[in-house]
Amino acid sequence: MARHILSKSTFIRGIQCHKSLFLNRYHKELRDTLSPEQEALFSRGTDVGIFAQQLFPGGVDASPENYYDFSPSLKKTKQLMSRGTDVIYEAAFHHDGLLAAIDIFVKDNTRWKIYEVKSATSISDTHILDASYQYYVATQSGIAISDISLVHINTEYVRHGPIDIASLFTIVSVLKEAREKQNFVRETIFLLKTVLKNKSLPAIDIGEHCDSPYPCDFKGYCWQHIPENSIFDISGLYSKKKFELYNKGIVALQDIPDDYDLSPSQHIQVKCALNNEKHIKNDEMKRFLQDITYPLYFLDFETFQPAIPLFENTRPYQRIVFQYSLHYKETEYATLLHFEFLGDGKTDPRRPLIEKLLPDTKTPGAILVYNKAFECTIMKELAESFPEYSGEITERLSRIKDLMIPFQKKYYYTPEMKGSYSIKYVLPALIPNPPERYEDLEICNGDIAMNAYESLNTESNPQKRERTRHALLRYCRLDTLAMIWILEIMEKCGMK
Ligand code: SF4
Repeated sequence: MARHILSKSTFIRGIQCHKSLFLNRYHKELRDTLSPEQEALFSRGTDVGIFAQQLFPGGVDASPENYYDFSPSLKKTKQLMSRGTDVIYEAAFHHDGLLAAIDIFVKDNTRWKIYEVKSATSISDTHILDASYQYYVATQSGIAISDISLVHINTEYVRHGPIDIASLFTIVSVLKEAREKQNFVRETIFLLKTVLKNKSLPAIDIGEHCDSPYPCDFKGYCWQHIPENSIFDISGLYSKKKFELYNKGIVALQDIPDDYDLSPSQHIQVKCALNNEKHIKNDEMKRFLQDITYPLYFLDFETFQPAIPLFENTRPYQRIVFQYSLHYKETEYATLLHFEFLGDGKTDPRRPLIEKLLPDTKTPGAILVYNKAFECTIMKELAESFPEYSGEITERLSRIKDLMIPFQKKYYYTPEMKGSYSIKYVLPALIPNPPERYEDLEICNGDIAMNAYESLNTESNPQKRERTRHALLRYCRLDTLAMIWILEIMEKCGMK
C-alpha cells in the first residue's frame, strides 16, 4: 500500500488549519516537542482505549507494530474478517489514500458496528467529525456498517468492588450524525488532498484556530514573530479581543492605544511592563500582613484525577489528594519544622493522609496556603468522605488563610510576574535567586506531579519508584518553602 494521504487525526488537523496539515506532512521537523503534560494526555487516551476493549472481550488486535506502516494491519484485518472473527481491535481500512484505524470493530450478522473510544466525559462536535471520517472510509472501502458509536467515560459511575466496565463507559450511537456529514467529509477530503498536492505552504496567519479544537503543535514555528511582552501576554484578556488587536497590527504592549478598554488589573500589568516598574499598594499589604501572625503553618496539597477510578467509592476523574507538605514556625525566628505525607501509589491515600495531617496541625496557629479555594475544597471533600473526621477538619478549615491574595488582587505586582499570580511566577519575581528553583527540579509543576504519581500505580521497578517518590517530595516541599520565602520578603521589605 502506498503511504496514506489522510488519517482521522490529519483529517481533523486539516479542518483546524490547512497550514498545520501541510507542515505535518512535509515539515515534521518544525513540530514543537511534546510537553510531559501532552504526553500524559495521549497515554491516558491510549490506556482508556485499551481498557474499553473489555466492553467487547475476546477480540483480536490488528494494530501495526510500526505506526508508519499500516500494510500488515490492513492485511490482518482482511484475514480476520474472512475467517469470521467477531471482534477486531484497531481494524484498519484503506480507500483512495485514506486510512481508518477503528478502535473496536464488532460483527453484526452480515454487517459491522464501529466503536470509537474517547477518554472525554462527553461527546463533542470534533468527536462526531472524526467518527464521520471513519464511517466514510469504512463504507467507501466496501464494508457494510450497521451502526457507529462513540464510547466515552461516564462520570456518574462510582466504583464498588472490581470495575464494572459496562457502567464505566457510555455508548452513544452517532450513525444519524455521521450519515448527515458524509457530503461534508467527501468535500473536505477533496479540499485537504488539494492542499497537500499544491506543494506550497498555505498562507495562513495565526488566529483563534491555533488553539481550537486542539492546541496546534506548530506554534513554535508560526508564532515566532510575536515579541516578548505582547498583547498575547495580557492576563484575562479574551482571545477574541487579542486577535482583534492583532488584526489591526497592534502586537507589542506599547502599541495599545491609551483609551483601550482594559480592566484595572490588566492596566497595572501593561503599565508595569512598559515602565519596568513595580506596583505596590502599601496600605493593603500592611493590612494583609497584620492579619498573619505566628505560630504559622504552611500547607500545600497535590492531587491527581485518574480517568479509571482506582479506589473504592470514587468516580472517574475524581480529584484524589495524595500528598502534602507542611512547614511550621512557632515564631518569626523559630526553627522551621517540616512534616509531609506521600501515598504509596497503590492504595487509596486519603485516609492515611488525613490521619497524619490532623495530628500534624493540632497545635494552634493559622494555616497559610497559596490558593485557599483549592486547599479548602480538598479538605471539605475529605470531610465528606471521612465524616468521622469532619469536626476536626472544620476546625482546621477555620484556620486557613490565603497568601495568594496580595498577588491575586495586585497589591504587589512586578513585570516579572507576567500577569500571573501563580507561585511559580511570584517566587522568582520576588527572589531572583532563591535557594531552590522549580526549573531545577525533575518534577516542576502540578500536572507533572499528577502524572508521576499516577505512574506509581503500575511502576514495579523499585529504583524508578523511589526516584519518582523522591522527586514528588522535593517538588511539594518547595511549594511550602516558597511560601515561607515569599512571606519573609514581604515582611523584610517593611511592608508590615
Ligand atoms: S500555529 Fe496556527 S497558523 Fe500555524 S499551523 Fe498551527 S494552527 Fe495553523
